[in-house]
Amino acid sequence: MHIGGRRATSASPQDVELPYDGSVVGTIYRAALEHVDQAVGAAAAAAPLMRELTLDERSSILRKAHQLLLDRRDEMAAAVCSETGKPIKEARLEVDRSALTLLFSGEEAHRLRGEVVPMDASPAGKGRMAMTVREPVGVVAAITPFNFPLNLAMHKIGPAIAGGNAIVHKPASATPISAVKMASIFEESGLPPGALNVITGPGGSIGDALVFDPRVAMVTFTGSVEVGLRIRNLAGLKRVTLELGSNSAVIIEDDADLSEAVSRCVAGSFSHSGQVCISVQRIFVQRKIRDEFLERMVEGTKKLAIGHPRDPATDISSLITVGEAERVEDWIGEAVRAGAGLATGGARRRATVDPAVLTEVPDTASLSCREAFGPVVGVNAYETLDEAITRVNASDYGLQAGIYTRDIRKAFHAARRVHVGGFMINEVPQYRVDQMPYGGVKLSGTGREGPRYAIEEMTEPKLICWKV
Ligand code: NAP
Repeated sequence: MHIGGRRATSASPQDVELPYDGSVVGTIYRAALEHVDQAVGAAAAAAPLMRELTLDERSSILRKAHQLLLDRRDEMAAAVCSETGKPIKEARLEVDRSALTLLFSGEEAHRLRGEVVPMDASPAGKGRMAMTVREPVGVVAAITPFNFPLNLAMHKIGPAIAGGNAIVHKPASATPISAVKMASIFEESGLPPGALNVITGPGGSIGDALVFDPRVAMVTFTGSVEVGLRIRNLAGLKRVTLELGSNSAVIIEDDADLSEAVSRCVAGSFSHSGQVCISVQRIFVQRKIRDEFLERMVEGTKKLAIGHPRDPATDISSLITVGEAERVEDWIGEAVRAGAGLATGGARRRATVDPAVLTEVPDTASLSCREAFGPVVGVNAYETLDEAITRVNASDYGLQAGIYTRDIRKAFHAARRVHVGGFMINEVPQYRVDQMPYGGVKLSGTGREGPRYAIEEMTEPKLICWKV
């Protein structure tokens, strides 16, 4: 762990395993409640220092961290690959994106501004002037999931620093290595000791203490709906940002560029074995082109290379645990028993599931209505665009969705009616660049990330009013 600028351990070591084969890749220490207390205490002590840093000082720390992360690209990509089991080529992309997230955060620190308030628009405002300045909230608790351990942490830590906050970061138990390495990078970049603390250990036993601690002003969480709801209920009046799950859908109209749609649907369904919150899970294809789309989708899926995550040729390695792979296998079985067709894939070896394409998955099957978080996608035929929109919206989630069509009117007809946080035209919903506003509606969460938007959530607009 990393508490108050020092490495910290506990009496409970725990192995970190490569999910693909269970080999041990590191050791972490499970935090006890006293470590939560120490980490929050260190952050609370560093908060006044962070608040006093000028915007340029915050920006310069973030830009230096961006550069140091790039300098250590290979080491950090190896860490991400080992702890998540994601293919090394995807781990390298994650490091590059994480560095960009820090750069964007540093740029946004330079742009942090309030506004002038038109006071004399009210009769009682005559002779008054006012402005807002953005002040840090104080201590931010950042709780992150296993699937993008580095970039999703940078989406919280970068904006928190830009806003002048101190942080306690709790990474997922399965993926703590990159988090501890980043704490050292930040300190080398000039971040004051105690401004970023990393505690490792099971969220189920230390999460409540972190969320509940009165010194924590804000909780920013990315993860499952169940844990998000628990945090929301415990956090009381604290600020809470929740980036939760989804079962993302894409509509393919009969005038779409089919080659483009197929190749993006293959990538969007199966990157990191589908363990992406915006992974394509439901594809709705206009009936006239359904058979051709399916044939090409299956062909593209069969070309994916399944293998060891450290092999640069690998596209598909494993899920995060054997238990998760078994769950996905069960859900495929449930859908097939309920009438879905299995066009390809679905076999499981240990934590690896072969990428699976199903057809006509009933709306009531778990694979339709819950978050699969695995390498599986359903291809379903529809007759009219409005029918497809209704089926996309028949979800408890609303993170991102998309449509492929060459007709701009159809594209905007759908864009205005699909209830999600982000809508992609001629792109799969599994698309994100790190500066865009990103977040969901319904069970997909509240609040937006992307450095500019996250900084707003992590700062308070304070009004200063004066009589002239
Ligand atoms: P998770 O089980 O909810 O865990 C997320 C984090 O919460 C982990 O650090 C976990 O720690 C911690 N945690 C567990 N119980 C807690 C508690 N009672 N109090 C506080 N923290 C607690 O999620 P996951 O399996 O790691 O990640 C997958 C989920 O994340 C999916 O649902 C996915 O859609 C979602 N996700 C959303 C986005 C987005 O931007 N919307 C992005 C990526 C992932 P432990 O690991 O120690 O249990």
